[in-house]
Amino acid sequence: MTSSQPPTPDSEAVAASQAGERLTVVVAGGGIAGVEGLLALRALGGDLIDLTLVSPGLEFVERPMTVTEPFALGHARRFPLEDVARDTQATLIRGSVSGVAPRWRSLVLENGASVDYDALLLTLGARLEAVIPKALTWTPDADPELLGGVLRDLEEGYASSVAFVIPPGVAWSLPAYELAMMTSRQVAGMDRSSIEVSVITPEHEPLADFGPHVTETLRHELQAGHVHLRTGATLVQRGAELQLEVNGEPVRADHIVALPRPMGVLIPGLPRDENGFIPVDRHGRVRDTERVWAAGDAVSYPLKHGGLAALQADAAAESIAFVAGADIEPKPFRPTLDGVLLTGERGRRLRDDAVAGAVPAGPGRPVAGKVAGRFLTPYLTRRDAAAAGSEPAPAIDHDPDPHLELGSRKDSR
Ligand SMILES: Cc1cc2nc3c(=O)[nH]c(=O)nc-3n(C[C@H](O)[C@H](O)[C@H](O)COP(=O)(O)OP(=O)(O)OC[C@H]3O[C@@H](n4cnc5c(N)ncnc54)[C@H](O)[C@@H]3O)c2cc1C
Repeated sequence: MTSSQPPTPDSEAVAASQAGERLTVVVAGGGIAGVEGLLALRALGGDLIDLTLVSPGLEFVERPMTVTEPFALGHARRFPLEDVARDTQATLIRGSVSGVAPRWRSLVLENGASVDYDALLLTLGARLEAVIPKALTWTPDADPELLGGVLRDLEEGYASSVAFVIPPGVAWSLPAYELAMMTSRQVAGMDRSSIEVSVITPEHEPLADFGPHVTETLRHELQAGHVHLRTGATLVQRGAELQLEVNGEPVRADHIVALPRPMGVLIPGLPRDENGFIPVDRHGRVRDTERVWAAGDAVSYPLKHGGLAALQADAAAESIAFVAGADIEPKPFRPTLDGVLLTGERGRRLRDDAVAGAVPAGPGRPVAGKVAGRFLTPYLTRRDAAAAGSEPAPAIDHDPDPHLELGSRKDSR
């Protein structure tokens, strides 16, 4: 992420807004960053903007919760993007972006159609790539049955060991720890005492990015959950083979389940780094372009995480709302890691003790969801309440007042 100048008023947008014209904002991608971005844009930009959502799929999936599904310990919330479009007064276009022409403020869809914009927010996520040859690569979307097969093999005696591997270069390691702990918990009820469950990681300390307090908590949880931890793993080329090793020894287990590595979605017309991610500044503005923003897994940033994706979308939405003429002072993206570690039916809140101040792990609590987004989390809560019949259908407040903490309004200083 490059250093950034604060956004300055855009004379063309100011003139348009003075003439009563709304800024046409297109959000491409309906994942965590896309939905957070839409909600933030509607709340902050109100009547100053027209919103369009472009997405190849028509469903929002709460991906971080998919880890619970093979163990029947929870489920990822899924709902039609049509609902989000309705609640944010956005037009929904089904389509996949295949190119962007920033000069013409236009994006091209795979079916050849073009969509014009005044401001574009790209939240395309990442492609997932298998890294460890001969391992099973776990992707929650592509193969929900994969872990079910591993659990069945353990139960029926066809396998006695399973290693969950975080390959070098994988930006989000939490699911490997969660899958291992939930597997170990499941195995405990199988009457097969010899089964070994382990996590293999290139990290020198587990979840080192969250800081020492989190590492200590996780080590304790792994020990209590009878999960073996092996740190400092490397991928070594041995002849024609790429081999996973710890301390020079190849990793052996009856089943090796590896996390995938995220890579950028390649979109012609946009700058990209060596892994295909889009370079942005701290306001989400895409380098060397005008009126194009990006957020979430798609951007060039070393950590990929639902909470960070939402924070990046908030920063971009503030910057766009400012261009549309909203009376706010856009704040840059400031990373704060905030996650929930699932160990079974309960979870522990993990927060970055270096950035956010130490937050004790505290007692476990049942987990309904894992996504921390300023707009998305309350939206999901309102949806749940509406589904349970305890509240009317969710609505988005057009008055930016309730969200003042997100961007400091000029008149509030
Ligand atoms: C295996 C795994 C487990 C994870 N576990 C956790 C966890 O426990 N906790 C956590 O916080 N994070 C977790 N993450 C990370 C988290 O899921 C991501 O950081 C988060 O989903 C990023 O949000 P996003 O909106 O950038 O991308 P996504 O949520 O992936 O959404 C991208 C959207 O863009 C759309 N899209 C793709 N290509 C195009 C295109 N060409 N045109 C238009 N739209 C397009 C997709 O259909 C999708 O709707 C995990 C990630 C993985 C891979």
